[in-house]
Amino acid sequence: MDLLSQDIMYLPGVGPNRKKLLSQELGIETYGDLLEYFPYKHVDRSKVYTVRELTGDMPFVQVVGQILSFETFEMGPRRQRVVAHFSDGTAIMDLVWFNGGKFIKQTYKIGKEYLVFGRPSVFNNRIQVQHPDIDDASKVDTSAMGMQPYYNTTEKMKKAGLTSRSIERLTKTLLEKLTTPLAETITPEILSKRHLMSRDEALRTIHYPQNAHDLERARLRMKFEELFFVQLNILRYASDQRRKYRGYVFNRIGDIFNTFYKENLPFELTNAQKRVIREIRTDTCSGRQMNRLLQGDVGSGKTLVALMSMLIALDNGFQACIMAPTEILAEQHLVTIRNFLKDMPVRVELLTGIVKGKKRQEVLDGLLSGEVQILVGTHAVIEDTVQFRRLGMAVVDEQHRFGVAQRAKLWSKSEQPPHVLVMTATPIPRTLAMTLYGDLDVSVIDELPPGRKPIQTTHVFDSRITSLYEGIRKQIQQGRQVYMVFPLIEESEKIDLKNLEQGFEVLCQAFPEYRLSKVHGKMKPKEKEEEMQKFVSGETQILVATTVIEVGVNVPNASVMVIFDAQRFGLSQLHQLRGRVGRGADQSFCILVTTFKLSEETRKRIDIMCETNDGFRIAEADLKLRGPGDLEGTQQSGMAFDLKIADIARDGQIVQMARDEAQTIIDEDPTCQSAQFGVLWNRLKELRKTNINWAAIS
Ligand code: ADP
Ligand code: MG
Repeated sequence: MDLLSQDIMYLPGVGPNRKKLLSQELGIETYGDLLEYFPYKHVDRSKVYTVRELTGDMPFVQVVGQILSFETFEMGPRRQRVVAHFSDGTAIMDLVWFNGGKFIKQTYKIGKEYLVFGRPSVFNNRIQVQHPDIDDASKVDTSAMGMQPYYNTTEKMKKAGLTSRSIERLTKTLLEKLTTPLAETITPEILSKRHLMSRDEALRTIHYPQNAHDLERARLRMKFEELFFVQLNILRYASDQRRKYRGYVFNRIGDIFNTFYKENLPFELTNAQKRVIREIRTDTCSGRQMNRLLQGDVGSGKTLVALMSMLIALDNGFQACIMAPTEILAEQHLVTIRNFLKDMPVRVELLTGIVKGKKRQEVLDGLLSGEVQILVGTHAVIEDTVQFRRLGMAVVDEQHRFGVAQRAKLWSKSEQPPHVLVMTATPIPRTLAMTLYGDLDVSVIDELPPGRKPIQTTHVFDSRITSLYEGIRKQIQQGRQVYMVFPLIEESEKIDLKNLEQGFEVLCQAFPEYRLSKVHGKMKPKEKEEEMQKFVSGETQILVATTVIEVGVNVPNASVMVIFDAQRFGLSQLHQLRGRVGRGADQSFCILVTTFKLSEETRKRIDIMCETNDGFRIAEADLKLRGPGDLEGTQQSGMAFDLKIADIARDGQIVQMARDEAQTIIDEDPTCQSAQFGVLWNRLKELRKTNINWAAIS
């Protein structure tokens, strides 16, 4: 049997109890798992400092010396601080414990030589190390210690005595057992082209490097490996789909598209819109099925691009559909599209959860007969009862609420899968898009329609709220409208509503001369629609809402967005909300109201919002602040994010490198069968077997 698949229980020093902990707390079941449990940092322990050399801003250091005396300070009931005065003859420092002092005093002897290791700091003008590691100096050879690995452990493990040090001993034992070189998983060509370490060397080095440079190279190799197989998996999937399905060919531009373009389009397309439409044209002519992700900041005019793509389908005798994540948004799309197509003989219908009975039957019949040419709807569109005569183009708006599985469902609506255009207003940094939506081609609208003034964003503490009202009043006097948003607290819808209700009352009192609408997710769709409509028509001046208005709502006359408790929102959500204003020609404003006390991270979020309107910069910052796992959409997307070592936010260059190499392999061996790459395909199979998330994409 392969030594790496050996049960971890049999590694000397483990046994059944520790095995249980390792498995429950860290997911380590086998020798191989332990080998790939990488240290999170290393500390150079070959150097011994003198006490006199130490300063408060050094990282970890070690010194050799003796404890001169102990001192105990009472810090309240049953709390003691124990201090050991420690010296190597050059100066005196303090070793400090806030708990476990009794044990310390019993264990360590005055006058004996100890090796003390820890992070120095300065307290009352004196160097101290809190909770240091202490070893008997006669039993350690510092010159042989080198770089010491540190492993993450959990509270439960620590309580059971399974510390970073214990894991260190286990990895050392394991590496000594692994006498034959570990199998390589990457081809020699890639290794030499990219100057990568062998797997064997990398895995040994990553635990016990000689120096920082070797460690970096070992980490690079392991990050590359991880990202490479993610990319290979994605590209294999995409290539599979491509071979399995051919795409409908839309080889003509006809009356519908031309009439719309020449007679109905009320403005010039931006260059970015033109470019994207050309890209879609090329895809839909190519004979392969389009799977394209269209990224464009809020307000960049994606709906129009979607509509024009659908018209091309219609000109070629096909039907088209567009799906939105909410009813409000679907209804709004319907109105927008009908307006755009005014006086043209195109039948556009709506299908959402509230279209029922006779009307629903009519729509369903029309779809089956082909008379309904464009269907606008919500998730209702992918229900099994909905059948088209000949669906050629499906648009999914606001991707982050649709998963891979739902996209796949669309495919079964036609005898061949329709072309799919997925639109998102949450811009995704390139490297993340490559991983998250790696099976999609990406188009970007990086230009806003002309004449838009950048939104001015300001931050206001809630104690200064009344002065804010004056500014808002001025805007309304000039005929503008205002959004006021309260956060949605998922776990407690009651509080959420209470927030909104209270806020609404306060605002009604603050603006007695104006009319206010109120919208939240718990309202009946009809009520919600009525309230929204009052705001859209200008009958009410202020719309008080929860985040239901986050996506897609379009009221160009609204020029102020006030976000209460802005500290509760994530960056991309704030950006989405802000995108509801700035849609007309007037100067727009976004006001972020927060409590006075803010965490460091919240501060950063608010600062970035005030600094820039650029969705891509915001998305990048978001990724860095939160990490990819938290990004909206990553959970449903079906892609693995439990990367062990690589970090999509920081390792962008390695993602690109992995993508390029994976692409080269797929280009040379699209059916994934060549023996030349056998080592890669076998490894991929193994990974797909052992990691559930990996399989989710296929
Ligand atoms: P989003 O990309 O956020 O979905 P929309 O498609 O809702 O943006 O477009 C925002 C607004 O800009 C709409 O009112 C739309 O009619 C308008 N618009 C779109 N393209 C252009 C253009 N090329 N010139 C002027 N206005 C445009
Ligand atoms: Mg939109």
